[in-house]
Amino acid sequence: MAVREILQLGNPTLRVKCAEARQFGTGELRQLIEDLRDTLYDFKAREGFGRGIAAPQINVTLRVIFTQVTVPVALINPVIIKRSVRLMSLWDDCFSFPDLLVKLNRNHSIEVRYQDEQGQEQTVKAEGALSELLQHEIDHLNGVLAIDRAIDSQHIVYRSEYEKWIKNPPTKVASAEASPPVEASAANETAQAPEQAPDSHEPEPISS
Ligand SMILES: [Zn+2]
Repeated sequence: MAVREILQLGNPTLRVKCAEARQFGTGELRQLIEDLRDTLYDFKAREGFGRGIAAPQINVTLRVIFTQVTVPVALINPVIIKRSVRLMSLWDDCFSFPDLLVKLNRNHSIEVRYQDEQGQEQTVKAEGALSELLQHEIDHLNGVLAIDRAIDSQHIVYRSEYEKWIKNPPTKVASAEASPPVEASAANETAQAPEQAPDSHEPEPISS
């Protein structure tokens, strides 16, 4: 078991475009996947939640991610090959800035091609919670962080203030002028997935 340090926002390694993994079935790759798994499980044991992690977050600049939504899956060299035009908006978060929440848009459904630990090509179709999680983790492999995708700068908030003002807004403060709170709280690496895909609007597709 090797729980690794999770790099935090500002560490330049989080901004690196990671290299493809080319060696499969090696002890090195197996160790990396185990470390990702152990680090994710450790965070989840301490914080009570956690669904995915990317190799650069533990200081390894290879295109490897590990997710646990229903079953644990390591995705190596993942590529998004299809995206729905339909978007969903959600409040996202990240192990690398656990005190922040960021509202952004993600494609509601995607198709991802990747290699498994043995190098076999696989594809997965994902929608909703798994879709936004995979988009978040694949972004990490390109040095892209959730804050880069914030709808605007007003939608980057401290978790404590999110809990206070957005998730459980004081009823007296709400007014017609106030922007409507939130369609759903989601979150990638820490909080719960959206309960209902928050497709209250259909903005222009985003590209990445
Ligand atoms: Zn993250």
